[in-house]
Amino acid sequence: MLLALWLNASASAGPVTHYYTVTVDYSLTWLWVEARFTHPVDSIAARSKNAAKYLLDVRGCDEDPGIRLRNRRMMLPADGIRCLNYTVDLKRVANEFRESSDLSSNNIVASPAYWLWRPELFGNAQIQVDFRLPENMQVSVPWQEADRSINRYVLSHSPESAYSPAIFGQFDYREIEVPGAILRVSLLDVEADINNDAIFDFVQATATDVSLAYGRFPNPSPQVMVVPISNSRSSEPVTFGRVVRDGGETVELFINAEEPLKNLLGDWKATHEFSHLMLPYLRSEYHWISEGFAQYYQNVLLTRAGEYDDEYAWQKLYAGYERGRKSRPELSPNAAAAGAARSARMKVYWSGAALALMADVTLRERSGGEESLDSVLGRFQECCLPSQKVWTGPEFFARLDSLATEPVFMPLYHRYADTAGFPDTSEVLGRLGLRVSDDQVTIRRKAELQELRKDILRTYAPVAQWRGQLATN
Ligand SMILES: [Zn+2]
Repeated sequence: MLLALWLNASASAGPVTHYYTVTVDYSLTWLWVEARFTHPVDSIAARSKNAAKYLLDVRGCDEDPGIRLRNRRMMLPADGIRCLNYTVDLKRVANEFRESSDLSSNNIVASPAYWLWRPELFGNAQIQVDFRLPENMQVSVPWQEADRSINRYVLSHSPESAYSPAIFGQFDYREIEVPGAILRVSLLDVEADINNDAIFDFVQATATDVSLAYGRFPNPSPQVMVVPISNSRSSEPVTFGRVVRDGGETVELFINAEEPLKNLLGDWKATHEFSHLMLPYLRSEYHWISEGFAQYYQNVLLTRAGEYDDEYAWQKLYAGYERGRKSRPELSPNAAAAGAARSARMKVYWSGAALALMADVTLRERSGGEESLDSVLGRFQECCLPSQKVWTGPEFFARLDSLATEPVFMPLYHRYADTAGFPDTSEVLGRLGLRVSDDQVTIRRKAELQELRKDILRTYAPVAQWRGQLATN
């Protein structure tokens, strides 16, 4: 009886929706927000502690309710208010973006962390945001699209791993199709002569790499932001990339502006970042799992996509495992990731990659090739991605085990996660037929698991051919 009552109550509750209207002026100098709350609210906050610096004025919609600011929190009257207006110095917010000097005056990046003052979004609470923009201007946010034609988006609870970008102005926005997803890609407008089509091809190809794990991209509608940098200190084609999970999933890619497509395609970083979306957001002490799986997959996927040959991929994996082994041998993976010491970086990046290989080989061997890390992650995507919550390592691994025929992940976790040193990969590499001499990997023709080894990296010809064509254009 109680259960029935509870079910009825929660079914009729529906989401709690607050309504925001965000207006931006044509010179991208000001941003005005009107916030209408569904129930009286007595406190709202912005995510950045610097947000108050950019707040120019705030008042109630009808009368002055007496609002006090305390750090990043707005203290409203105790009985709450239902409507609020405020103005933000958008031009100054835009300077928080670290590459703002590279952008043309046509567009800015202004994270909502600095301008979105809102109630906490517990449970099914959400905010519907309508953007009012000058003619010819666009906005890009990672939030769920309710109706792009009228710039209406919905923001709900998320891991808030970092500050997501909001892009305003004139920039090249395209919806790029890859298996299982439409990427919402924004290429920022910069003062440099760049080949936009080539950059969108690069995004499409590297996101397609990830679909070579289980046939589709893990998030059906992520935001992608590409920032071309003109005077980068880095000579690498992709200078930096990261994933942000804040109101949705964003992949940010910073690239050298005039780099030819062939070089962009040869850089592993975009494939690495997109691979991160196969996992949910894990708490920081478990980042060795997220980084490790991405390191494993970037090498596997770039080989399946025809960019690497088998020997090169195994060499990269082997070399990574060696770097991991030499990094802070007195620490366990959990301790290394929790400590976040720079000297333990390689342990954090490669311990999880060792476990990924071990799990992959065990799953394939045990099932005669019916199961693999790919297929288990594919099932995980079906049940659980994209995920709004922050996971622990054991939660994630236990869930993967529940999706496999027999557990493999938690046994590896128990053995290695809190054990000093580095997972010993020599046995599995040997069985796969990889011989190492003077740190050089060669592939033996005959080995116990030779077929399994070939299956892991097997090239998918249509993608390899397409990538090959792109590289010669
Ligand atoms: Zn990473």
